[in-house]
Amino acid sequence: MSKSDAIIVGAGPSGLYLARELSKVMNVTIFEEDRMLGIPPHCTGLVNLSSLKVLAYRPPS
Ligand SMILES: Cc1cc2nc3c(=O)[nH]c(=O)nc-3n(C[C@H](O)[C@H](O)[C@H](O)COP(=O)(O)OP(=O)(O)OC[C@H]3O[C@@H](n4cnc5c(N)ncnc54)[C@H](O)[C@@H]3O)c2cc1C
Repeated sequence: MSKSDAIIVGAGPSGLYLARELSKVMNVTIFEEDRMLGIPPHCTGLVNLSSLKVLAYRPPS
């Protein structure tokens, strides 16, 4: 493994976004306790495109 300039603990949306941005300028290593990203799910999916339709939300065109 090459030398890391930054270590991020947790590969959720926040950690992955931060890793993507930092990796443009430095070497980044992510530690994730679960074997697969997104499993187990941390999100119920209650707020999704279907629920936005129920609320009559229209995305900007
Ligand atoms: C019950 C519930 C329902 C939700 N429903 C919705 C929804 O319907 N719609 C919606 O948009 N959002 C929903 N959310 C919110 C959404 O899940 C969060 O906003 C989002 O996951 C936050 O991302 P994060 O990267 O900050 O944290 P997380 O997604 O929690 O990521 C943190 C990561 O760090 C890892 N980790 C933690 N400690 C360690 C450690 N010591 N070592 C290694 N790895 C570690 C975890 O395994 C995890 O992968 C819901 C959240 C919960 C709890």
